[in-house]
Amino acid sequence: MTSDCIFCKILDGKIPSTRLAESDLAVAIADITPQAPVHALIIPRKHVASLNDLTAADRREILPALYDLADQLARDKGVRETGYRTLINNGESAGQTVFHLHMHVLAGAKMKHGFGA
Ligand code: 5GP
Ligand code: ZN
Repeated sequence: MTSDCIFCKILDGKIPSTRLAESDLAVAIADITPQAPVHALIIPRKHVASLNDLTAADRREILPALYDLADQLARDKGVRETGYRTLINNGESAGQTVFHLHMHVLAGAKMKHGFGA
């Protein structure tokens, strides 16, 4: 728990959120400003600011856990076969605004093509 981190507060229950799924290593919540009918954030329980801050050991443990929970969420939401988009913004130029690593999962409609500069 990092005291000034909004996602740590959410994981700790100090800020309310809609929990969609969870595992030992990660929690899926509904994004507060959804960009698609399904828009979840898969957040590792451990505070890591961004992809750059993962140790090699974290990377081997946490990244698969994010994809495991995305797969479970996609099944639960019935979008696994129709398709879903996963996205991690890494750093300011990529558009990261919350510096606790998280993966977006978007689904439930045809995604717009293209997400470059
Ligand atoms: P980023 O831009 O860092 O990749 O994504 C941050 C995401 O967190 C945004 O999509 C934003 O809507 C979401 N977000 C920011 N604050 C909150 C919050 O307090 N609760 C929830 N559920 N989502 C949040
Ligand atoms: Zn945090």
